[in-house]
Amino acid sequence: MQKVFLIILVLVSVCACQSQNKDLLTISNLTMGTSYSIKIVANDIKYDKRALKKDIETILAKINQAMSTYIDDSELSRFNHTKSTAWQSISDDLYEVIEHGIRISILSDGAFDITVGPLVNLWGFGPDPFTQNIPSDLEIASIKQHTGYAKLSFDKSSKLIAKSDPDIMLDLSGIAKGYAVDKIAQYLDGHGFNNYLVEIGGELIGKGTNAAEQSWKIGIEKANPLSRIVQAIVGLDNIAMATSGDYRNYFEKDGVRYSHTINPVTGKPITHTLASVTVLTASAMHADALATAFMVSGPEKSLSLANELGVALYMLIKTKSGFEERYNHLFKPYLIH
Ligand code: ADP
Ligand code: MG
Repeated sequence: MQKVFLIILVLVSVCACQSQNKDLLTISNLTMGTSYSIKIVANDIKYDKRALKKDIETILAKINQAMSTYIDDSELSRFNHTKSTAWQSISDDLYEVIEHGIRISILSDGAFDITVGPLVNLWGFGPDPFTQNIPSDLEIASIKQHTGYAKLSFDKSSKLIAKSDPDIMLDLSGIAKGYAVDKIAQYLDGHGFNNYLVEIGGELIGKGTNAAEQSWKIGIEKANPLSRIVQAIVGLDNIAMATSGDYRNYFEKDGVRYSHTINPVTGKPITHTLASVTVLTASAMHADALATAFMVSGPEKSLSLANELGVALYMLIKTKSGFEERYNHLFKPYLIH
């Protein structure tokens, strides 16, 4: 959750389809090392924009203070820094995200793993300074020993977690933005708003309709680091959407592209033909984590897992001549073109 996201964050762009309507309220700012944008069609609802923004920023600040690895005294940083293997009590927010992260690890056969934090750092995509040095196999192996979601234990009834290895460190960057999107959506629901789009760093939820009384329309970008061209348009009908890709947050050395998504098995950035994945599910947290898991798993495994889980999946796959689009039958109804 940090400045690197500023470079990549918008894997999606909002169509200018909902324009002239006077009741379209937009609230935006920076958060979690990236930006957020909320659009609300607030017909017939009395609201105070300043109070609304203040409430939203309070929710975001609380989540960031719980889950950021860039804030030294965040709850997560304190858990990461302690060498204690005793049970520790954590906040409801943090518990929910960690528990869901582990659930996705199990579902994805370890492709998604919130304990990859030290490897993310080693490759220059975490809070440590970015050196562009390619780590040696020995370095990777010695750090990899201190990863693995099985090193975390839970006590659900008391919201306790414990680590069996004092050196493991958690990284929630692949799931926390989705959680924050869900929390903002819950807040808006609770205040009677029925038509809104919430976006944080490219993870979204669209509810109801836009100001033109159509579904919220989102463009999936072509997987090209040098351009911002729309490849496909999705109508977000009361659903969350998350996109992960290897073409925004990466570095290149000697002609090789190193992405910020780490394969927990090799301890190295992913190296397959999948350029981007987009996932639609009811919860943005679920979609966010699954999109990262699918990026690690590659096209074939992802397609079969998405079908097995009943999840709508869209992929852009690198080919010799460019990119191929592939999506499952669950995604098709949401594709506008
Ligand atoms: P984005 O930030 O572009 O939305 P993701 O949601 O895919 O991208 O999250 C990528 C981030 O997740 C990385 O920057 C890293 O901090 C973390 N990460 C990298 N590999 C994994 C992995 N295998 N499992 C869980 N988190 C990961
Ligand atoms: Mg993610």
